[in-house]
Amino acid sequence: MKNNETIAAISTPLGQGGIGVVRLSGKDSFKIADKIFEHSKGEGILSTPSHTVHYGCIKDPDEGKIVDEALLTVMHAPKTYTAEDIVELSCHGGIIPLKRVLELCVSEGARLAEPGEFTKRAFLNGRLDLAQAEAVLDIIKARTDASCSIAVDHLRGRFSKKIQDLREKLAEVLSSIELGIDFSDEDVELKAISEIRRNIGKIAEALEGLLSTYDKGMIIKEGVRAVICGRPNVGKSSLMNSLLGRDRVIVTPVAGTTRDVVEESINVSGILIKLSDTAGIIETKDRVEIEGIKRSKEKLDEADIVLFMLDASQLLSEKDEKIFNAVSKKKILVIANKIDLPKEMDIKEAREKFNNEEILEISVLKGEGIEKIESAISRKITEKNIDAAEGAIVANLRHKKLLEKAHENIKRSLENSEQNYNGELIASDLNDALHHLGLIIGESIEDDVLDRIFSQFCIGK
Ligand code: GDP
Repeated sequence: MKNNETIAAISTPLGQGGIGVVRLSGKDSFKIADKIFEHSKGEGILSTPSHTVHYGCIKDPDEGKIVDEALLTVMHAPKTYTAEDIVELSCHGGIIPLKRVLELCVSEGARLAEPGEFTKRAFLNGRLDLAQAEAVLDIIKARTDASCSIAVDHLRGRFSKKIQDLREKLAEVLSSIELGIDFSDEDVELKAISEIRRNIGKIAEALEGLLSTYDKGMIIKEGVRAVICGRPNVGKSSLMNSLLGRDRVIVTPVAGTTRDVVEESINVSGILIKLSDTAGIIETKDRVEIEGIKRSKEKLDEADIVLFMLDASQLLSEKDEKIFNAVSKKKILVIANKIDLPKEMDIKEAREKFNNEEILEISVLKGEGIEKIESAISRKITEKNIDAAEGAIVANLRHKKLLEKAHENIKRSLENSEQNYNGELIASDLNDALHHLGLIIGESIEDDVLDRIFSQFCIGK
């Protein structure tokens, strides 16, 4: 590892801001900072106490020129983000001063940090486990309160603790298997074996419980994809605009003018809904429309929920039914729009035609019933109430895959224990499960996996 080097990066977003921070981590942090920082009281910073803040200037040591005013924060290892010596230079938040300060750090011996390298060091130095380090990224990327609070929970170790507990239970079973490999008494042996089976069964159940939270976890973290579809002119673009609260799609009274897929996100009761309005999904000869339809179909395939729109001021048409048939395998919300106009559609008949789905009657024009749509979306997709505060939630594909592998190992050991009890065979599967759970929190993890995880971070984190 290159852990001997001192790294530096601009840790705040590049742009104009009130404050911008350059961060140094590593054994030479204080030495480097001392060369470029001029304390207002003329003090050096090499012997200042940990976790103190100092006012002064950043100065180019060669030219003697002042680069910016700054506050310098000194943090001694190991109680720091990386568990190494850290200095943070809080300057004015402009690109030029921050780049100058960073250049000075580099010319005094620091190396530019790689993406996520501060967090990677926190992991390698044992301050965070890998699941916690991944949670840091999730906090930065969170787009809803709920996804942020799951990530904070993970950072604080709730998920990791669950994994550790399971690993401890596995280790207990393993040691009782090893103890009992030579049973002297048949009665004792039978008792011990049934105890072992029961304990393995409990671990399998706990893994199943964790895995069952994944869909929910991903909804909270990534949001859901909703697609609005319906024949031309029913009011799809208008609904999209209304849900977004602004004019993102051009609304015109000519049929079939939305020729592409338009995508935006809204936050409904804390869940991110990625909304697309589609060009239509039924046959046409217009080449531009054919392309739009192709993209709409792709969007539909990916959709978690479809908002199927009808025009209540017109009779049901064959086109409505065709579209419904094309989407009927998805979760559907049926919406009858334009109830401000005289009603032509027989809602009861429509309901019978469309799988007895409840039909939400709305008028986008008058703004009637829009909130009903929002609550129906969140009811449909969550089914059960989503509560980020409940037990540990799996919200990461890497974790899910490893949990599944561990679950397979456990299942196999359970089957083996039920057939012909063979302690060694069972222990081998349990050891594999232990290994797979360990990878979640970063034990014996390979370098390329680590690199892949941390390359998703921004520089300076
Ligand atoms: P799309 O083709 O399905 O995207 O439909 P648009 O959103 O472009 O709407 C088609 C036309 O219907 C426009 O003239 C809208 O102003 C109108 N429209 C949309 N919603 C309503 C509604 O609730 N009531 C009435 N009367 N007209 C509406």
